Amino acid sequence: MDIKIDPIKCIACCACELACGYHWDDAMSPITSSIIVYRTREKKNYFGLMLKTEENLVLARPEGIEIQRIGEVQEGVEADPSAKPIMLRDACDMCDGVDGPLCVRFCPTGALYL
Ligand code: SF4
Ligand code: SF4
Repeated sequence: MDIKIDPIKCIACCACELACGYHWDDAMSPITSSIIVYRTREKKNYFGLMLKTEENLVLARPEGIEIQRIGEVQEGVEADPSAKPIMLRDACDMCDGVDGPLCVRFCPTGALYL
């Protein structure tokens, strides 16, 4: 089971990043988060989410969800600075069953759900 994402509801508050960083490091830092807000330089005020799972990189953009197999990530995404850090991080482990998925609990809009 993976986290599900409704990108239209996301407001890019980054609470999920902080919650996930807390899961991994017991600190309020997003540097190790398995989920990140994805921005582009080409389009102003455009954002989506990236979620790294064991097998996939899930790209959740306003226009829809795209799932890329790890190791087969398309060049255009892998080359983006937003994508590089997440490929080096641990995959989502669903918070190892402790206290429920923190990102889901702290998302204020219901953009993340099970
Ligand atoms: S379920 Fe836990 S490990 Fe997975 S993205 Fe959410 S906070 Fe991170
Ligand atoms: S916590 Fe929810 S609204 Fe905020 S960035 Fe994450 S998915 Fe988007």
